[in-house]
Amino acid sequence: MKHTDIKQVLLSADMVGSEVVVCGWVRTFRDSAQVAFLELSDGTSFRKLQVVIDKSALQPDPETTKLGASVAVKGTVVKAYKGDGNELNAKEVALLGKCPPEYPIQKKRTTLEFLRGIPHLRLRTNTFAAVFRVRSVAAQAIHRYFHEHGYYYINAPLITASDCEGAGEMFRVTTQPWNAAAESEREYFKNDFFGVKAGLSVSGQLEGEVAATALGKIYTFGPSFRAENSNTTRHLAEFWHVEPEIAFAELPDVIEIAEDMLRYLVRAVLAECPDELKFFDTFAEKGLIEKLSAVADSDFAVCTYTEAIAILEKQNAHFQFPVKWGSDLQSEHEKYLTEVVFKRPVFVTDYPKEIKSFYMKQNADGKTVAATDLLVPGIGEIIGGSEREADLGKLRQAMVARGMDEAAYRQYLDLRRFGSVPHGGFGLGFERFVMYCTGMENIRDVTLFPRAVKYIP
Ligand code: ATP
Ligand code: MN
Repeated sequence: MKHTDIKQVLLSADMVGSEVVVCGWVRTFRDSAQVAFLELSDGTSFRKLQVVIDKSALQPDPETTKLGASVAVKGTVVKAYKGDGNELNAKEVALLGKCPPEYPIQKKRTTLEFLRGIPHLRLRTNTFAAVFRVRSVAAQAIHRYFHEHGYYYINAPLITASDCEGAGEMFRVTTQPWNAAAESEREYFKNDFFGVKAGLSVSGQLEGEVAATALGKIYTFGPSFRAENSNTTRHLAEFWHVEPEIAFAELPDVIEIAEDMLRYLVRAVLAECPDELKFFDTFAEKGLIEKLSAVADSDFAVCTYTEAIAILEKQNAHFQFPVKWGSDLQSEHEKYLTEVVFKRPVFVTDYPKEIKSFYMKQNADGKTVAATDLLVPGIGEIIGGSEREADLGKLRQAMVARGMDEAAYRQYLDLRRFGSVPHGGFGLGFERFVMYCTGMENIRDVTLFPRAVKYIP
């Protein structure tokens, strides 16, 4: 259908006077004796287009004025009577699709919970349309950032036979019937499609290292799957994962890149989604734009895990889970550090080796590894990264200590056997980043069809 995007009709001064066709869904209808007003949205912009109907010249079909109906309007672009931008004087209003009154998206403010029950329609609300415009802008900015900085885009497999130890429970991939009988686990998988136990990847990192130790700088951006058995507002079973991996990089380089990337992404969203951010600033998180502007312009904090524990221990009385050196940081501790102590994003570095993965570079103190988590206000951990252990002997030792099967990691060990280099990388949870930019508090509200434990709408 030949038509013009509402965004263009609204905003281009040089469209004034021209005749156009716009298509969209009716968002409001106001009627009076001489004129009627239709507000249309076609998804191209946060703002809606006001269509003015002169009733002495045009009597619209009542079906074209119903909330949610889809219409095509031919008319002349004129400067808006009130405010900036343009509106449309209608000449013809044609019905594309009727919308009966049981349409569940009604004018009165509904709750996010209610809208979660209609995932196929909730994008027609201001809130969800804005979330997904921000999400798209952020995704494009991720590719742009890495492309501009000389990284190659790599696609890691989603079906894998290794489980990137420590990252979380893996979903199984199988063609076996539910009642397959077998004498042993090994016997069972021998009859399976791949002949071995296979699952959905929890991270593309191991394959990312393969690519980085040949191409230098790479990133993956795709789904990861985790059978997280926790019902939180920050975890999904299927999430999108941005994972750069960089050869010849040590932990300080990884931190510098993570900060530079995050600030680039925030600046892109600030520049490209001003209307959406204004909306979220009003309805989701007061001060959101100020928060994001500060992130774009000022340095993040850095502190070691040991320093963080010293700070947190003084507040142990306030925590549900008191900390001591060696304990994993819970969400309440992460939030306290970033929201109360540093009041900005903070990289926590050098965690005890026992609470981190086998592949992280072992520090000279023999107790900690060169890992870092980036914590941000409102969310907690948004990035997890590290320098990787490049020494074959030390890596094998860490695997033995964890009772891991070396044979399953032969390829990974080969990277240390043949021309090993210092290298590192990190993983950004894309949905958590979208939450951070929009102020949305539940990860299920920044995902088209969220998947979580006992939840697949
Ligand atoms: P958390 O402690 O929050 O469960 P993690 O330490 O298990 O996260 P990593 O393995 O470090 O996570 O993964 C890197 C990033 O991927 C995390 O910082 C987070 O932003 C994101 N992430 C991890 N698990 C999930 C999940 N289940 N749903 C959404 N995002 C996730
Ligand atoms: Mn982590």
